[in-house]
Amino acid sequence: RRQQAPSYLEGLNPEQRRAVETTEGPVLVLAGAGTGKTRVLTTRIAHILSLGLAFPSQILAVTFTNKAAREMKERIGVLVGEAIEGMPWLGTFHSIGVKILRRHAELAGLRSDFTILDTDDQVRLVKQVIQAEGLDDKRWTPRSFAHMIDGWKNKGWGPRDIPEGDARAFGEGRGRELFAAYQDRLKTLNACDFGDLLCHPIRLLRDNPDVLAEYHRKFRYILVDEYQDTNTAQYMWLRLLAQRPASKDAGLAEAPAPYVSGSASPAEGGARDRAPDDFSSAPAEAGSRSERPAVSANRAAEGGGPAPQGAERPVSVNICCVGDDDQSIYGWRGAEVDNILRFEKDFPGATVIRLERNYRSTQHILGAASHLIAHNEGRLGKTLFTEAADPDHAKVQVHAAWDSDEEARAIGEEIEALQRNGHDLDDMAILVRASFQMREFEDRFIRMGIEYRIIGGPRFYERMEIRDAMAYLRVVAQPADDLAFERIVNTPKRGLGDASVRLVHDHARARGIPMLEAARDIVATEEMKPKPRAALRELVESFDRWRERMDRTPHPELAETILDESGYTAMWQNDRSAEAPGRLENLKELVRAMEEFESLRAFLEHVSLVMDAEQKEHLDAVNIMTLHAAKGLEFGTVFLPGWEEGLFPHQRSLDEGGRSGLEEERRLAYVGLTRAKTNCHIWFTSNRRIHGMWQGTLPSRFLDELPAAHCDVAEPTGVGGGYGSYGASRFDRADPFSSDRPSPGWQRARANRTDATARNWGSRSGVGVERIGYGEADSGYGAGRKSVK
Ligand code: ATP
Ligand code: MG
Repeated sequence: RRQQAPSYLEGLNPEQRRAVETTEGPVLVLAGAGTGKTRVLTTRIAHILSLGLAFPSQILAVTFTNKAAREMKERIGVLVGEAIEGMPWLGTFHSIGVKILRRHAELAGLRSDFTILDTDDQVRLVKQVIQAEGLDDKRWTPRSFAHMIDGWKNKGWGPRDIPEGDARAFGEGRGRELFAAYQDRLKTLNACDFGDLLCHPIRLLRDNPDVLAEYHRKFRYILVDEYQDTNTAQYMWLRLLAQRPASKDAGLAEAPAPYVSGSASPAEGGARDRAPDDFSSAPAEAGSRSERPAVSANRAAEGGGPAPQGAERPVSVNICCVGDDDQSIYGWRGAEVDNILRFEKDFPGATVIRLERNYRSTQHILGAASHLIAHNEGRLGKTLFTEAADPDHAKVQVHAAWDSDEEARAIGEEIEALQRNGHDLDDMAILVRASFQMREFEDRFIRMGIEYRIIGGPRFYERMEIRDAMAYLRVVAQPADDLAFERIVNTPKRGLGDASVRLVHDHARARGIPMLEAARDIVATEEMKPKPRAALRELVESFDRWRERMDRTPHPELAETILDESGYTAMWQNDRSAEAPGRLENLKELVRAMEEFESLRAFLEHVSLVMDAEQKEHLDAVNIMTLHAAKGLEFGTVFLPGWEEGLFPHQRSLDEGGRSGLEEERRLAYVGLTRAKTNCHIWFTSNRRIHGMWQGTLPSRFLDELPAAHCDVAEPTGVGGGYGSYGASRFDRADPFSSDRPSPGWQRARANRTDATARNWGSRSGVGVERIGYGEADSGYGAGRKSVK
């Protein structure tokens, strides 16, 4: 017996400790937010290492993001110190997939120096395949097919596995052939796409028992964070690695953990003699096999630890998954919460551990979150409590704003106030439902001089569609802007290939004139083939027309015209990919942003200033990100803007009608609330301005689901003291948020809404808002949602 617990175990509660110390057999930690699941995983690795149960290289730990992997590495370093050499295999499913695939590329028909295609490359390749099949790529768009392929790969399907219905649904019934042709092309190019990083390893492990056996010997311990969000392919992959054949000689006897060596002999000599470890030849593993960590010997001598009993050894490797069914928020991307629900069936003899004490949040925050999530049916249900119950703790604050501009300003002012009181910006976060909401905060914070960083995605003005749109505007305002011209000369595609662009470029160079002028010259000659010439002429004429209108048309309107007439909006409207709706929404937000400026030039100047502000990685800065990107993180103060029907819950989840979309939205709200340690501010606006028109909005139904005991409805006039009477008078008009409120104000606000307001919402589909939705690839509502499900 150990006399004294190692320091890293100190402070763990008994259940956490059990989760750390139950190193053998399958373990599932199923627990609510902030209960220390991630901490348990990290400590477990430290524990395994410091007891010498395994070499670092024999541990596989899967995190949901690369950032989480980095943090875990750091924490393990701190916990076990420098003593341990090497590091566990620690990363996302994709990064580990790459690692496996590089080692065995030839088994997947690739060379080990294969390239990984990004989305753009992937789409281009898909397009070639579609064209090669003689299909119309306007009707059968490459993006939608690329998206379909991703969905199939999330399920672990290859061309032969896809159901007949799926195969028929695309390319005049030729979905399967197209998929197969695409895979062939990838092979020829020695490349793979993102989905292949999961699918190739699955297939090569399944088809090559000897390779699989190597990994069975290699990985003694598998750990998975955020298990509720694994998709089918990831799940298959885990099961392959974690489950050995039941027959004794096939795997089990060969694979005991090293520490058993003293008592149960096979590991010491037997296993190695019978089955040479192929990994010994791999550089990372070289030599490590023969040097046993010192602790191992001690431990064996002590005879401590749960010695496995040969015959009854479970068939599974020591796998530990942690997760929370209430935080499953990637269903739209193919995640299967069922994976967590059937863990016990898949891994017989599993120890299931529940953690109930939340160490992160105050009583009020936890109370609000628990109450909200209780509205979901079909959940496992858990108890959560916190000892952080201090009468001084603030309740969750619910604020109302007139519109998103005011919302951003008030939040900015609150942040400044917090900062004055000594709070770090780093410890604050703004979590939005859809990325277009970020724009308002970015613009506002730049003006107020508040440092911020965007996590998990580009800043608003750095997004591809925004850069494209801005390029059009720049050429209109400044026809000599060649960089901008080059960016959009063939976006959307208008048949101006590299050769044509080069011609324009060379001509411009030779004559020392801007490209637009050069283009004008060229279309007057026979130099270019008729088709591209016509296209270029049309573009030049369009720019002339737009520029001519510049001084008499309001610039937001001009921008819309340009985006429409250039075919840029249509390009995204015809795009069936998951990102397209979000991009369209961002374009609308761009037009909206322009309304705040006097002229196109003033706007362009503002944007170049914003773009110039570099991403502040190490400076103290407020964090802005989507709710999806916030999973697993925590902050002292969390701001949750935009709690309005149609935005949150998202319109698409409402359109779907069923329960599941709405419930995923609610889980997202739960994730948002539970990121906060001490302060949580929820905001909703009474109006959103769309195309210069005010639209009344309804407060989110999730507000109704918050318990009054844990929430305060802040006075509209009181927030930050900043928008005083101006705000108040408008509120008076907008909503009767008076001070004497027996029931929470938002409920009355909802009750007081007339049908006309509701109709307003309905009629929005007229301007395309509803159809487009507030979607965004990283926010869960792409066009492909249904097909992903
Ligand atoms: P989520 O579901 O949001 O991912 P989680 O269950 O992974 O949450 P952690 O992030 O591991 O929770 O822990 C939440 C916070 O509580 C962290 O700051 C962590 O350091 C702290 N914590 C966890 N366990 C303990 C403990 N036994 N004593 C003190 N603090 C703890
Ligand atoms: Mg966690």
